[in-house]
Amino acid sequence: MHFESPIKRRHSRQIMVGNVPVGGDAPISVQSMTNTETCDVAATVAQIRAMQDAGADIVRVSVPSLDAAEAFKSIREQVDLPLVADIHFDYKIALKVAEYGVDCLRINPGNIGNKDRIRAVVDCARDKNIPIRIGVNAGSLEKDLQKKYGEPTPDALVESAFRQIEYFDELDFQEFKLSLKASDVFMTVEAYRKIASQIDNPLHLGITEAGGLRSGTVKSSIGLGLLLMDGIGDTLRVSLAADPVQEVKVGWDMLRSLKLRNRGINFIACPSCSRQNFDVVKTMNELEERLEDIKVSMDVAVIGCVVNGPGEAKEADLGLAGGSPNNLVYLDGKPNTKVKNETLVDDLERMIRDKALEKEKQELNLIAKS
Ligand code: SF4
Repeated sequence: MHFESPIKRRHSRQIMVGNVPVGGDAPISVQSMTNTETCDVAATVAQIRAMQDAGADIVRVSVPSLDAAEAFKSIREQVDLPLVADIHFDYKIALKVAEYGVDCLRINPGNIGNKDRIRAVVDCARDKNIPIRIGVNAGSLEKDLQKKYGEPTPDALVESAFRQIEYFDELDFQEFKLSLKASDVFMTVEAYRKIASQIDNPLHLGITEAGGLRSGTVKSSIGLGLLLMDGIGDTLRVSLAADPVQEVKVGWDMLRSLKLRNRGINFIACPSCSRQNFDVVKTMNELEERLEDIKVSMDVAVIGCVVNGPGEAKEADLGLAGGSPNNLVYLDGKPNTKVKNETLVDDLERMIRDKALEKEKQELNLIAKS
């Protein structure tokens, strides 16, 4: 990365979700949610581990029944990243998973029930030092608010949130974060903007039911991108009708694009055209697949010809500029090695891995010195 993100983040108080800080000056965390049957413990644990490998900081698990709460206990014992339990309708499930070591409770004010039930959840959360996410959702607003506003609106979402916030204030409970999700980009963005200036609790961002991998990624990137550019958001989840591992990857790509967090390789690649001296698209696809395990942050440029190749390659940690008869690899901004098309992907993979190792060592040295 060659310059810092210019985004000034909104000031928020910090809560702890397990060992992951959310809010304050903590990095914006990436969340996802399992879509396995929670009672299928083995499948759920495997999915959580896959999300963790992809970079999830926090994972949410739906707990729709007391049987699922028992499964949650077993899942909790087998994974080591913070788990949020998603609770709707039945507050007793929240009390149960709190016993079993949940790191955060997500409750939906539209369906969790009366104040006594909310108080029971808050008392238990306070007792066990567990934060809560108030998850307002346009699809499940309280009935009286649906009647008052006629349809979900940003104000309806904000009013629903404030009912809970005020009640949490009465109960003197501030260990919560808030989300105000709708599937409509405009409604979501306006609702978050409205509430962001009125409270200082951390905000969990998301466009709910955003769509499939492509459409949901675009919708989420626009909505969450606008909010993140405003400095709003302390943790996020990209909701996709797709493998949740993809949600994690898209979340990271968003944060990396805005230079809010770094992890893994930031590829700079040209779209290719008839000037290309090697197959850019095939090379990129293979490199992305082969190098998914790299966690250290680095820029790699893959550019098809000399029109933009040398310029981009010089700015990256490692850059390739297509050329004839050979392509030229730049390391740290300087021409380094010529590579042939026949061995291009293997050669690049090896050089990128060497560079990643070198960067990891440099980072470890810096940490040791500080
Ligand atoms: S860098 Fe070269 S190959 Fe790539 S799109 Fe531009 S002109 Fe085409």
